[in-house]
Amino acid sequence: MAVLAFSVTRLSRTLSFAIALTICLAVPRGPQAGETTATTQLSGLADQGATAQKQGLPVRDRVILVVERLVVQLKAALEDAEPPTSVVVHLRFPNLRSEMEIELPFDGKLEPEGAKAVKKFLRCRRTGRRRKIAPGLLAIVADLGKRYQGHTIEIVSGYRAPPYGVRRSKHFQGHAVDLRVEGVPTKEVRDYLWQNHTNVGVGHYVHQDFVHVDYRPRQNDVAWSSKRRGAPYRINPKWARVARAVLAPADHDHDHDHDHGIGHLADVANSVSNDMATH
Ligand SMILES: [Zn+2]
Repeated sequence: MAVLAFSVTRLSRTLSFAIALTICLAVPRGPQAGETTATTQLSGLADQGATAQKQGLPVRDRVILVVERLVVQLKAALEDAEPPTSVVVHLRFPNLRSEMEIELPFDGKLEPEGAKAVKKFLRCRRTGRRRKIAPGLLAIVADLGKRYQGHTIEIVSGYRAPPYGVRRSKHFQGHAVDLRVEGVPTKEVRDYLWQNHTNVGVGHYVHQDFVHVDYRPRQNDVAWSSKRRGAPYRINPKWARVARAVLAPADHDHDHDHDHGIGHLADVANSVSNDMATH
């Protein structure tokens, strides 16, 4: 029997495969207690047959393989076709010595439990008072979390209770947050927000190295810079014009450009004087 098994292994691959297949059907796999040596050898042949099967696949198995691969690709394509609706964001609030990880939907509309947790986390750091944070603002934070995935967002201030802010501060309404993104220059965060969002105010506080962003529906967008504490804001600074000029369609009518530019600046000035901005 041992001689027979030895000679079989030297046959052509096709023949041994055919024999092994027959053995597979005829002999149970794996040695059992009390099995003879011959049975163990036959079982070994079956294993060789399985190896041969992998190396020289018959047509039927190739078709199965192709179908399996297609299914895998189709599943991947379907997953791609359904973009995520939320992002997990890691927030740190050093002034309150607290951190949180939260799944923020891109529309900013949290379930009551999540909204409550965010309200507590972004509470006024001076008074401890809380106010609901606007979904419009959370949508902006979610987008920032998506853009800088894996980076912690550091909160400088969230909700502020009066009188800790300028008159009509967006912070009083739960509409504003001052932040940094760890590992990313604040000017990059500032430009990203200004380029990718509307209904916003974006302020760059250069000396303190943070970005203010607020959600202001039905108002003109406003961008500003503050170079040092107490200095007057520069409204529509160069970085803001440059960041959005990249997005503006090419227009070769220079006179029209000029008029439009002045009109836009007037809009911004009105918006700021009507609303006292900002931070
Ligand atoms: Zn602010």
